[in-house]
Amino acid sequence: MSKRDYYEILGVSRGASDAEIKKAYRKLALKFHPDKNPDDKDAEVKFKEAAEAYEVLSDQQKRQQYDQFGHQAFEGGGFGAGGMNMDDIFSQFGDIFGDAFGGFGFGRGRSQRRGRKGTNLRVKIKLNLEEIVNGVEKKIKVSKLVNAEGIEFTTCSTCRGAGQVTRVTNTILGQMQTASTCPTCQGSGQVVGNRPPGVDASGLEKKEVVIPINIPAGVEEGMQLNMQGHGNSAPGGGTPGDLIIVIAEEAHPELIRDGNNLHYNAFVSFADAALGANVEVPLVQGKVKIKVDPGTQSGKVLRLRGKGIPSINGYGTGDLMVTVHVWTPKRLSKEERQLIESLRESTNFAPNPGKDEKSFFSRMKDHFS
Ligand SMILES: [Zn+2]
Repeated sequence: MSKRDYYEILGVSRGASDAEIKKAYRKLALKFHPDKNPDDKDAEVKFKEAAEAYEVLSDQQKRQQYDQFGHQAFEGGGFGAGGMNMDDIFSQFGDIFGDAFGGFGFGRGRSQRRGRKGTNLRVKIKLNLEEIVNGVEKKIKVSKLVNAEGIEFTTCSTCRGAGQVTRVTNTILGQMQTASTCPTCQGSGQVVGNRPPGVDASGLEKKEVVIPINIPAGVEEGMQLNMQGHGNSAPGGGTPGDLIIVIAEEAHPELIRDGNNLHYNAFVSFADAALGANVEVPLVQGKVKIKVDPGTQSGKVLRLRGKGIPSINGYGTGDLMVTVHVWTPKRLSKEERQLIESLRESTNFAPNPGKDEKSFFSRMKDHFS
């Protein structure tokens, strides 16, 4: 469906002044207002259409874009058919009608108020590797703002419940009306009548609450879990904010995390590397013995499949990579020194990298170059 021209909708010329546009919209908004036209779909469409046209043409920048590119200027953006909801439209009214609007006695008066949302709360939570691998339920204590009991709200006298105040200033272009959030009620349109100690001006008080949270397996440092509606309450019973859980990881003493994989550095003696041995490797839970084959080179990586961290999306589990390091003793007794010196004479002890080792070293070279 092709959209009608915004100027045409408001019935003004392309060169119309701001005042003309405002006047035209005001007329249409009153004519097609839903309270005057109950259950009239056609009026509702026209009402929304006019609001959308006004939203664009009353904004200098948007109007310029529209003049240049037409409806294309806003495609994929905020507007489009039905892009503005009724709340947007009614909140726009504060600018247009100011206090006068209340005089019309429309039942929608309340909708003029921007619904206040409670603020978000952020809580950092520290998890160890075991909790990350298994997922965990934690009960956390949060100090949050809740609506105090026994509070009576009365209509704000500064804005008479509108949540907005309009100010008229004289400029060289004539009178300009600006609307801003009411400083007395911060936009809620209501003020607290009686206020017990500890309760703030919007009727909120701090309370410690315990919130159980389920942390899924596979979370990572810095990840944020959003618990909708568990943040601070909104004044006067609006939508509460969110509780944002920020994940922090406790370092494991031996295992190093890399994405969903874990790394472990296993140190073996030269004798074990040469003769082969079973080496104990720590897991997130428990331990496992792995076999180091005879003739294992330092730097060899053994992969333990599925012993890493489960993906948070539920697709598979990472691996535990064990890097074998041959430990070179730092101090030798006299006997040890003699033994090793005689080993050194053996031709078999001269380095002689095979194909596998050569490719390993060249990979290492690539890695560090
Ligand atoms: Zn107010």
